[in-house]
Amino acid sequence: MAVHTPAHSALGGLLSYASLQPLAPGTLVRVPLGTREVLGVVWEAPASEPGVPPAQLRAIAGVLAGLPPLNAHWRALVAFAARYYQRSLGEVALAALPAQLRTLGPEQMARRLRRPAAAGTDTDATPLIALSTEQESARAEIDSKNGPFLLFGSTGSGKTEVYLRCVQDLLLAAPAAQALVMVPEINLTPQLEERFVARFGAGQVVSLHSGMTNPQRLKSWLAAHSGQARIVLGTRMAVFASMPGLGLIVVDEEHDASYKQQEGARYSARDLAVWRARACGAKVILGSATPSLESWHASRPPSEGDPEGGRYQRLEMPSRIGAAALPRVRRVDMGQQPRRAVFSAPLLAAITERVQRGEQCMVLLNRRGYAPVLHCQDCDWKSDCPHCSAHQVFHKIDRSLRCHHCGYAQRVPRACPACGSPDIAPMGRGTEQLEEHLAGLLEGVSRQGGGPVRIARIDADSTRAAGALQSQLAQVHAGEVDVLVGTQMIAKGHDFRRVSLVAAVQPDGALFSSDFRAPERLFALLMQAAGRAGRDAAWMAERGTPCEMWVQSHHPKHPVYEALRRHDYAAFAAQQLTEREQAGMPPFAFQALVRADARTQEVAQGFLAAAANAAREAALPGVEHISLYPPIPLAVQRVAGVERAQMLVESASRPALQHFLAAWQPLLHALRADPAHKGLVRWLVDVDPLAI
Ligand code: ADP
Ligand code: ZN
Ligand code: ZN
Repeated sequence: MAVHTPAHSALGGLLSYASLQPLAPGTLVRVPLGTREVLGVVWEAPASEPGVPPAQLRAIAGVLAGLPPLNAHWRALVAFAARYYQRSLGEVALAALPAQLRTLGPEQMARRLRRPAAAGTDTDATPLIALSTEQESARAEIDSKNGPFLLFGSTGSGKTEVYLRCVQDLLLAAPAAQALVMVPEINLTPQLEERFVARFGAGQVVSLHSGMTNPQRLKSWLAAHSGQARIVLGTRMAVFASMPGLGLIVVDEEHDASYKQQEGARYSARDLAVWRARACGAKVILGSATPSLESWHASRPPSEGDPEGGRYQRLEMPSRIGAAALPRVRRVDMGQQPRRAVFSAPLLAAITERVQRGEQCMVLLNRRGYAPVLHCQDCDWKSDCPHCSAHQVFHKIDRSLRCHHCGYAQRVPRACPACGSPDIAPMGRGTEQLEEHLAGLLEGVSRQGGGPVRIARIDADSTRAAGALQSQLAQVHAGEVDVLVGTQMIAKGHDFRRVSLVAAVQPDGALFSSDFRAPERLFALLMQAAGRAGRDAAWMAERGTPCEMWVQSHHPKHPVYEALRRHDYAAFAAQQLTEREQAGMPPFAFQALVRADARTQEVAQGFLAAAANAAREAALPGVEHISLYPPIPLAVQRVAGVERAQMLVESASRPALQHFLAAWQPLLHALRADPAHKGLVRWLVDVDPLAI
């Protein structure tokens, strides 16, 4: 018989091979491809394709015996993702499987497929904490309804406990059921893994994320695929895990941009999770204190003009556990402060007071390095990256200039490379400088119990070494740090118990970004950051002083900060959605970006313009419902010597956009093969892009 397997090339559909024995769809096989041997999955033959006589086909090299086939739900998910995100089936299918599968021999396979799935859970005997009324009613809704659910719970409202309990309800109810729990960045939340392991036992829980080695990934994948692992905890890639018993998917911090894959098949793991759950009859919980406006809109309750409401069910948990108060938001008008002040006097006084009382503070600045640029005061030279349209960032710690786009690094020059002047100085500031500056300001202040104030920094630079982040976070939890300085990494999900003050020292930049999602992201970041303060109600009550979130701004009355002050996500979302609706932007419109990379902007934009013309000339289906915008350079238009341009494609109808993109793809391939562009342009499509 002939078997069909997704091909590896970007263009490829299915490849056909001969097999002596009939093979069920989903069977994993090894097949020859050119001179190599690669992994393949037996796929259904496409109805439209005439069969090639098996005699003319190459034979499969072997079957991965002992492995159950990938089931129809998994194959449907992969096929949908490939179609929706405009990629080849082969690319999506093979990226979703662990690379080491191919090398697995029958004996190894037998050894790895351990024992049968554990029944029940280890927790039957563990005493459980009593759920709050809000938690209990969310859990009851989830257990009794179909969803999809948007769990809209304040920071510290106990969302994780709801996930744990719903997973437990599922595992106890069905002996072979499995749960998938997704988090934006697993390294940022080691506590979460601990909580699942503590509740369900190490044997039931496996992780799947990109920080794992190939053998680790294989092991987790096999445990999920065989049903031995009842719970998979992972990042976006885990949405493709093969889980035959899948009954529940949790997407924690569903608003987080990390759920969008930014290379290859640019899928949204959150959106795929919702699709996958519906297709296989599983439940899905999207959880956040600051949902994406897409999910918020999709969970709108029925109203007079909109009797249907959204397709998600919204569950609200407004209260913090133990009746802990959300922090009081204090805004400092930086227009009233000395011009070059980094820390305003009242903020510095507040930090000093807190550390003297033995409380922890967090200072947020979303820019790493010492200074974003080095500048010559004599000739105005700036440390531009020679390969990108961006500055090289000054890192004082190793005296380097580093480009955060292409990675190009140089030693800091002693004098200006343009005019030789020694008057070169850092301009602006990053976390490294903030840490140094704050240490200077707090010199002489002694913390509670005596001794100098201990300042630590967490950002992509300080956490590069393996295990560095974990040990830094452990120090904060252990109370060995008084002030934590860092980027958005410190704002995410951590259950710090002794933080009573959080400060954003310079958040204004995002207010004036050209990206229409910038206010949404800033608001979410500040709400998340505020959510790190005052999480332990009893401890805060003992202190007597309420916890605080400080914002230093030149626009303290800006609606983003007004909404933050009231902790009013709903009002912020309503205002943003009104603007989006008026402007015809997502979630009221659907978008895709076509990007072209070339040696010059002219070539890149020329390709995009030709692609738009080709679509118009071919009168593609649905083209009348599509807006094609003129090609423009990307915000950072040149990276590593490559010029980048993009074209926005928009429609009020998602199906129309999908039809159009599918019909357009062959034209884009043909255009690239055209002599005018051959070898000069690379292009890709980003469906539902997050950054415009
Ligand atoms: P969220 O994910 O909503 O920010 P968490 O689930 O991390 O909140 O819960 C915040 C804190 O409250 C955690 O330390 C958690 O252990 C604790 N907690 C959660 N639910 C309860 C409960 N019902 N009773 C007591 N403590 C709880
Ligand atoms: Zn100079
Ligand atoms: Zn660069």
